[in-house]
Amino acid sequence: MSAAVLFTSLAQAQDQQQMKPEETEVWQPVPTVVTPGKSCGDAPSDAITLFDGKNLNEWVDAQDSTKPAEWNVANGVLTVNKSKGNIRTKKSFTDYQLHIEWKEPKELTGSGQARGNSGLFLASLGPGDAGYELQILDSYNNSTYVNGQAAAVYKQTPPLVNASKPVDVWQTYDVMWTAPRFNSDGTLKTPAYVTVLHNGVLVQNHTELKGPTQYIGIPAYRQAHGAAPIKLQAHGDKSEPLSFRNIWVRAL
Ligand code: MG
Repeated sequence: MSAAVLFTSLAQAQDQQQMKPEETEVWQPVPTVVTPGKSCGDAPSDAITLFDGKNLNEWVDAQDSTKPAEWNVANGVLTVNKSKGNIRTKKSFTDYQLHIEWKEPKELTGSGQARGNSGLFLASLGPGDAGYELQILDSYNNSTYVNGQAAAVYKQTPPLVNASKPVDVWQTYDVMWTAPRFNSDGTLKTPAYVTVLHNGVLVQNHTELKGPTQYIGIPAYRQAHGAAPIKLQAHGDKSEPLSFRNIWVRAL
């Protein structure tokens, strides 16, 4: 240790001794009180419920937002209706925490990308698949390109591990989304980031997105945008449709 470094650390130690514990206590502002859900995964008191098992009042047709979302609601569960296309939230969001549960059907058929494909678009940038997709797929025992398996940021970042459960078992995503920010001239200021727990397991850890997810081509931030709806994918594969329940979001 050099004399200068030794002197600096001695001075710091002296400062520490001269400080009172109260000097590093923060008392204001007091964090807002939030009542957590009864069990893990239930909506806390400040969440916006997007689907509580009863109706699709918070959703519209992604292709034509003047039309209601026409997926099937029965027995507290939302099931994709592929003939009706994607659905999106009425509300728009910037940064948020989101919880969603999904289940592949027992009688699921198909393989690769054609096996229970859907998607959670963290920010929708229009109808179709425009936006930032967190992949939903049966990846329990189903080989495909890894940046397209369940919990991948589609065609960008595979999950850190495969935490998938089998068909006919409810699975959870807990998502922390930081939206991208743009300068007034439309150029990118800061990229989007996402952290994801799949069935409680960390699978995306503050992952930087390279732009909206793309089926073909190299992603980039080509379109400046602000708050955006959240969208669910009605994928065109031939396999039986999957189901969702207990969807809520906390705007940050
Ligand atoms: Mg998909």
